[in-house]
Amino acid sequence: MELKQLTKNIYYTTHEERRDRPCLGYIKDSRYPLMVDAGNSPAHVEEYRALLAAEGLPRPKLLCATHSHWDHTYGIEAADCFCLASQKTNQLLKTMASWGWTEEEMKKRLETGEESLFCDTHIREEYPRPMEIRVRPADLTFQGEITLELDIPIRFFELVSPHAQDCAVLLAEGVLFLGDAYCSVPVGEDWVYDKKLLAAHIAALEEIPFSLCVKGHHPPQTKAELLAELRRELSLL
Ligand SMILES: [Zn+2]
Repeated sequence: MELKQLTKNIYYTTHEERRDRPCLGYIKDSRYPLMVDAGNSPAHVEEYRALLAAEGLPRPKLLCATHSHWDHTYGIEAADCFCLASQKTNQLLKTMASWGWTEEEMKKRLETGEESLFCDTHIREEYPRPMEIRVRPADLTFQGEITLELDIPIRFFELVSPHAQDCAVLLAEGVLFLGDAYCSVPVGEDWVYDKKLLAAHIAALEEIPFSLCVKGHHPPQTKAELLAELRRELSLL
């Protein structure tokens, strides 16, 4: 994992595939430095903090969670920030906060389809002892859009996505933090896009004024590169 600077005030840490650790964002601020996504575990948060400290960057005080998936939220408790999320995301976090993590409970969720094999496998990779998992919901929720009046204005808003029903994205300094909003979903061994939702997602992205995007599980791209890639995916459906 590395910390990279993207613009004057915006940094991100690189993703990792083995433990399904997504990119985490950092936005500098004189009062409330902000973290984008909480990471998948206390260990992930610890590494993020160490990279910030090495650059002399203060710990974040605010946290925006882009969607409820475990790899973006199971670090909320350890991040120890005031956490913002959409109402939809928080509903899902509240449900997961009530989950038990015994072998039996984990197996049952796989059987009922509440959990996917992809997530189950990676959770076991990140957590040698899943019983240690603590899911914490957000401190403040919103519907639609919220603006944070920090040193630079930050827009945090819900966006239609083929990946999940609760995706929100964050726009600051021309950078769009997508979380996984651009991703397909795992169906068995394959990753599949819903055609209608992908088309709606592309149309929504076209209207957003950004020059660069930070993707949850891939390197950053320009707006043109992202749209070209998604339009290519759409043409294959
Ligand atoms: Zn996701």
